[in-house]
Amino acid sequence: MSYLTGTVPVVHLRYSFRVYPTVPQRAALAKAFGCARVVYNDAVAARRAAHAKGLPYPTAAALSKALITDAKRTAERSWLGEVSAVVLQQALADAGRAYKNFFASLKGNRAGARVGLPRFKRRAARQAIRFTRNARFNVLDNGRLRLPKIGDLKVAWSRELPAVPSSVTIVKTTTGKYYASFVVAATDGVDLAEPLEDHEAETGIDLGLKSFAVLRGGKTIESPKFFRAMERRLKKAQRALSRKQQGSVNRAKARLTVAKIHERTRNKRDDWLNKQVAALVRENQALYVEDLNVKGLARGRSAKSVHDAALGMFLTRLESKAVRAGRAFAKVDRFFPSTQMCSVCGALTGPKGLEGLSVRAWACGCGAVHDRDGNAEANIRREGRRMVAAGQADT
Ligand SMILES: [Zn+2]
Repeated sequence: MSYLTGTVPVVHLRYSFRVYPTVPQRAALAKAFGCARVVYNDAVAARRAAHAKGLPYPTAAALSKALITDAKRTAERSWLGEVSAVVLQQALADAGRAYKNFFASLKGNRAGARVGLPRFKRRAARQAIRFTRNARFNVLDNGRLRLPKIGDLKVAWSRELPAVPSSVTIVKTTTGKYYASFVVAATDGVDLAEPLEDHEAETGIDLGLKSFAVLRGGKTIESPKFFRAMERRLKKAQRALSRKQQGSVNRAKARLTVAKIHERTRNKRDDWLNKQVAALVRENQALYVEDLNVKGLARGRSAKSVHDAALGMFLTRLESKAVRAGRAFAKVDRFFPSTQMCSVCGALTGPKGLEGLSVRAWACGCGAVHDRDGNAEANIRREGRRMVAAGQADT
């Protein structure tokens, strides 16, 4: 992705809508979810078997032939022929991508925490299938979504798609709800925001552990109280679940309770994030943010907190919305010493490393006295402005 002020680059936007499949459509979807899962799991098994024998990993073409084309002709896998071939190919592509990410992470070519070895997908998890344009999915004039071998699905359109989508993913959540998630390639003109009178209206954004974000002029966005509250409720529900007997009705109920809390947390968090992002993009002509090692943040904690997870989502949404709105946007490298550097003289005199985390204010040898977060924001803002001016594009 590039960071340019004049032209708006192509961005892939996701639009999700609730869908309401009929009973026969649900059965067809269940079949497609099942087939996609089987192909994915077969691909994982084939790669594991090759690895165990010391053979090279089978190519995508070899897997496609063995696990889809040839498998359909066998008695055990003949039912693969009952679902769209594109759905199966996409499941295979997903498995390939999972391995690619795993190896990239192993070689250190991928930022963030280690990506684990791909695992088998379970029936009880969230289910998803993807249709690309060559699967000939279609939005009909009557507003229904036509999917090959599934039918015409009723969609709760909450807004219009800005262009023809390149793919649609149908998701079934663990609480049994269905969503259609469209990918649309957006070019200029999408959602362009009003240019601001004040071209100097810009801010650095320092994301963190204490406040959610620190903005220009010492303004902060605090982490909302419900983050912690939802975490506590989730923990309690998960403890209750772990005490229930395997396979019992009570366990199934407890699992649904956990899934419902997850869902409510997600909805509340999404609402909150969208509001913050919208306000920032509305009020600023340029936004500069430090690319956090968000996955690294979670290291050393038992589980990723709602706060930590929200930071990553905030970054993604801010970038997408800012670029779409035609605002200048830059993501400053996470190795840029935003905290350590004195924003007045540029010397690296600020707090360093983990022990430096507790240092809230400090004085530089040049005579400047800094609030830790305000100083970081000023550095991020200056570096971001420099990147945009230089037309630098690197993620
Ligand atoms: Zn200084």
